[in-house]
Amino acid sequence: ADKKESEPTDTIVITSECELRFEVESDEVSLVLVDGQAEIFGTEIPLNKVYKFVAGLSIAVFSWRGCRLKITGNCNSRYISKQTPMVVYLQTHGALQQMRNNAERDDKDGPRILVVGPQDVGKSTLCRLLCNYAVRMKQQPVYVDLDVGQGCIGIPGSIGALVLERQADVEEGFTEQLPIVYHFGYYFPDANWALYNELAKKIADDIEKRSEFCPKARHSGFVVNTCGYVTGDGYKFIKEAVDIFKINCILVIDHERVFNDLQRDIPEDKATSILLPKSGGVIKRNGPCRKRTRESRVKQYFYGFRRPLNPFVFNIGFDEIEIYKIGSLEVSDSLLPINKVSDIKNKLSCVKIDIDNDLIHTVLSLVFGEPPDLLCSTVAGFIVVKDVDMENRQINVLAPAPHPLPHNVCLWSDTKFNDEGSIS
Ligand code: ATP
Repeated sequence: ADKKESEPTDTIVITSECELRFEVESDEVSLVLVDGQAEIFGTEIPLNKVYKFVAGLSIAVFSWRGCRLKITGNCNSRYISKQTPMVVYLQTHGALQQMRNNAERDDKDGPRILVVGPQDVGKSTLCRLLCNYAVRMKQQPVYVDLDVGQGCIGIPGSIGALVLERQADVEEGFTEQLPIVYHFGYYFPDANWALYNELAKKIADDIEKRSEFCPKARHSGFVVNTCGYVTGDGYKFIKEAVDIFKINCILVIDHERVFNDLQRDIPEDKATSILLPKSGGVIKRNGPCRKRTRESRVKQYFYGFRRPLNPFVFNIGFDEIEIYKIGSLEVSDSLLPINKVSDIKNKLSCVKIDIDNDLIHTVLSLVFGEPPDLLCSTVAGFIVVKDVDMENRQINVLAPAPHPLPHNVCLWSDTKFNDEGSIS
């Protein structure tokens, strides 16, 4: 059983194949490896480097061979666990690496991995771990994050992909400079499955094109993270995603029924399904906690994380910007005529919206495309409507770069943000 560490102590010894888990309470917690070997979600940490973790984070420091750490600050709960799924996760990585080696030898596709499971089972953490292990083996995997609510690419409401060339930063996660980001506009895929599907196809297409001219990319493969939707339309999407991304390995965390259903529905020669255990360290996040995480991601986008950013605030005329909304969700599915084609058309339609006070605090995605072809255009950046002056026909915006905007076409999103915090 896990051993609870009731006494807070500064120096902690982790024996081999054990993990220190802690949740950062209110202030920062800092951590230094003083002896031995340790990693945080797959990223190796060097000796004597001070890491600082901000409030709300839940961290695990795992050691394969044992180590000694110094830790300062207040933790909500802090204990060493001897029961972790790390050996199984490492074996999974070993099998995936074997697929990469074979792919290189025979010049074919490497592992194309889909990670599925219900909410809060450690999907993102497993993706991060597998990507880190791949990078440590000198691979260049692509990480695709389809988690529109708690994803790590862009801001909440967007999805995207990153080509990974280095391990995740322990404090900040993957910090690659040029992600491909697409606008979805909502925190939940069921707000518009048709659009979600189109975006997945677009990302798959981007990866395919890159693989064509970059053999290293094809052999390294990719890891797709999903939202925690495993029943109904969520399960339907998992099956579609297997086709869209030509997945050859599905990792199911902690859901036997989905694992069995996938074994029944997806032929073994197309994709292998593997059931993996959940780590006991994964924390369950309630609504307010998820909201806080979303807020901090938007805040981080405009104000920076370790290196502070200074966003700009300026006015733009109503004529200098065009705002479009994808899909008209005002009509509930049950009220629509039983005509699937017009339903999907409706969900993928791009409608120009009028500027009014309802836009205050709305986050808009600046996109590269030209109307009406905006559905899968890449996101150039995000701005927030701080205020609307109907009389002078001007809007006041928060933007990462100074006036003028690099593009004048924007997509509306359900995300709201103000400088005192998000209000969505
Ligand atoms: P969602 O359904 O929201 O996408 P998820 O299944 O992707 O969630 P994660 O985001 O990977 O789950 O993990 C949830 C939380 O648990 C995160 O805060 C993560 O840092 C934490 N966590 C994961 N593994 C561990 C561990 N072994 N020890 C401590 N905390 C952990």
